[in-house]
Amino acid sequence: MGIMNHEAAVSGAKKIADKVLAPAARQNDKDARFSSDGVDELGRAGLLGLLLPATVGGSGLGPRSFAAVTTVLAEVDASVAMVYLMHICATATIASARPDAAVAQTLEDIAAGRHLSTLAFSESGSRSHFWAPISRAQRNGTGVRITARKSWVTSAGHAQSYVVSSLAPEGKAPTDSTLYLVPADLRGLSVAGPWDGLGLRANASAPMMLDDCEIPPEFQLTNEGEGFQAMLNASLPLFNLGAAAVALGLCRAAVAATASHLKSARFEHLGQSLGESLPTLRAQLGAMQIDTDGLSTRIDDLADHLERPRDTTMLRVLETKAAAGEIAIGVTSAAMRACGGAAFSKHTSIERLFRDAHAGAVMAPTSDVLRELISRMILGMPLF
Ligand SMILES: Cc1cc2nc3c(=O)[nH]c(=O)nc-3n(C[C@H](O)[C@H](O)[C@H](O)COP(=O)(O)OP(=O)(O)OC[C@H]3O[C@@H](n4cnc5c(N)ncnc54)[C@H](O)[C@@H]3O)c2cc1C
Repeated sequence: MGIMNHEAAVSGAKKIADKVLAPAARQNDKDARFSSDGVDELGRAGLLGLLLPATVGGSGLGPRSFAAVTTVLAEVDASVAMVYLMHICATATIASARPDAAVAQTLEDIAAGRHLSTLAFSESGSRSHFWAPISRAQRNGTGVRITARKSWVTSAGHAQSYVVSSLAPEGKAPTDSTLYLVPADLRGLSVAGPWDGLGLRANASAPMMLDDCEIPPEFQLTNEGEGFQAMLNASLPLFNLGAAAVALGLCRAAVAATASHLKSARFEHLGQSLGESLPTLRAQLGAMQIDTDGLSTRIDDLADHLERPRDTTMLRVLETKAAAGEIAIGVTSAAMRACGGAAFSKHTSIERLFRDAHAGAVMAPTSDVLRELISRMILGMPLF
């Protein structure tokens, strides 16, 4: 797989978005069908290894490129963009594994475009508090055995591997977790139910069960009890950036779909389009555009903070996802209102954008938790 620069990555994503994702997005949403074709194309284009170093065959690009690619995908299919985001977060976690973890082949397969991964953190027992798994790994010779009920796993049943959290065998605190790489074919791992969400219907975010899975020591990604630190350092910044990028793609699509409707739908008795006729609708479209560009600026700012970390970086990581979740709901809700019964009756793509936009705020860390963490930071209180 050749090395790509930023522009090639974004134009590659755009081609896939236009040719593969856009024609199928509506039906995949309706049928809750996972876009294997889309993921295969992302692999062929070298986008699955976007952030991996050239030494394993990746392109060595950074957070800014990841955000731009994710936004382009989300403009046409937020489900695929979320699958991509989870994969990139899992890949970053695998790539930062402790030195004795056996991850070289997995990273090469990812860079070669033949391996999709994802995060399996949330558990039924601790719900959105993904930092506190209920399951606890049990010692099994030099490895461990894990039984865990993972409540939502994007790409469940479609990924080639899962980055799984579980309390360390001797962990004392609720956050003393360890992360493991679990191959899809490991005995005891299964999809535990269907995925029939309100939105992001095509991303297979089903529950998964680990039933006494035997995990050899070489698949332990972090030192014992250091899973939480890896979540904070490797997964969280990219997850929050990527979630904001998905929100931005949804907002851009909502602005474009609203503009198109306001230009094409007409009051024939007045001889004007909706947009020509109603200043209130123009005002709503203007407000949607302002919020969308504001989110874009926030994402650029977060990418800059991740490229050049400084004191305010963690604050920006938390703020950007919190803001993005609310902006996406606000902009797509305004689009629903501006496009009236036509949007409500699914004559446009707006109701899908509206449903998809509601996932971001409830995906952990949820908007509520982010606001709580931000205020704790400002008050100088411990975060967890
Ligand atoms: C489409 C989708 C894909 C997902 N994919 C993955 C995945 O790939 N991997 C994964 O690990 N998880 C995944 N999740 C799970 C996700 O990250 C959350 O864990 C899940 O959405 C939480 O839902 P819940 O009902 O358990 O929330 P609950 O924990 O029951 O929260 C209910 C409400 O309480 C609020 N709340 C919770 N705690 C606090 C607090 N301390 N302060 C203030 N308010 C609080 C929440 O914001 C929420 O509004 C996915 C979820 C969705 C919807």
